[in-house]
Amino acid sequence: ASMPVITVDGPSGSGKGTVCRLLAEKLNWDVLDSGAIYRVLSLAALHHQIALDNEEALVPLAANLDVQFLIDSTTKKSKVILEGEDVSSTIRDEKVGSAASKVAALPRVREALLRRQRAFRSEQGLIADGRDMGTVVFPDAEIKLYLTASAEERANRRYLELNAKGLDVTLGGLLQDIMARDDRDMNREVAPLVPADDAIVIDTTELDAQQVFANVMAILDDAV
Ligand code: C5P
Repeated sequence: ASMPVITVDGPSGSGKGTVCRLLAEKLNWDVLDSGAIYRVLSLAALHHQIALDNEEALVPLAANLDVQFLIDSTTKKSKVILEGEDVSSTIRDEKVGSAASKVAALPRVREALLRRQRAFRSEQGLIADGRDMGTVVFPDAEIKLYLTASAEERANRRYLELNAKGLDVTLGGLLQDIMARDDRDMNREVAPLVPADDAIVIDTTELDAQQVFANVMAILDDAV
């Protein structure tokens, strides 16, 4: 098919990001990190002193968001530029993730970002990472994956990751953050986090990144 899409949805810490990166490398397809768009929007709201529940003001901000997704030619790492400023590491902050899930709960904000997300579709092929990729943004995707894992395991992964970066975090605090974010993402009125009817669900609780990737590759092999 022309402009093929594989959607990868699931809660934070389920391993989506890593699988998407490995898949994109393997297939040589593009990646849409839709969470980064919501993260950037919440950061822009902070910059412009717009409250995270001010839908009226957030809709035009979302529609005109000045964001660029680049690949650094030397390091090959993806870079996110907001209004000319490199925010690649800032947007990964847990506080920004939490702020993102607040703006993401607003229906008209989501609507305003739809076209921008669909524009990532390309002839080359697209791996779309998010919460509603298979249900709302690319309902016609040929393959839909839904990754999940226990909240404890996801908190533990985040803990190891942040601890390695030298950040002062506690496992209990991260578990609370994750459960609050899950609650907002799963129980919102519009585009809640839920597997699409035709999604293949993978529980990654007991699997490492390579095992998850091997599972996904087996699914793709079966599909062709
Ligand atoms: O995936 P990531 O943790 O970067 O996403 C940050 C937040 O953005 C999520 O908690 C969710 O509230 C929101 N999001 C969303 N729909 C997407 C991707 C992310 O609502 N497709």
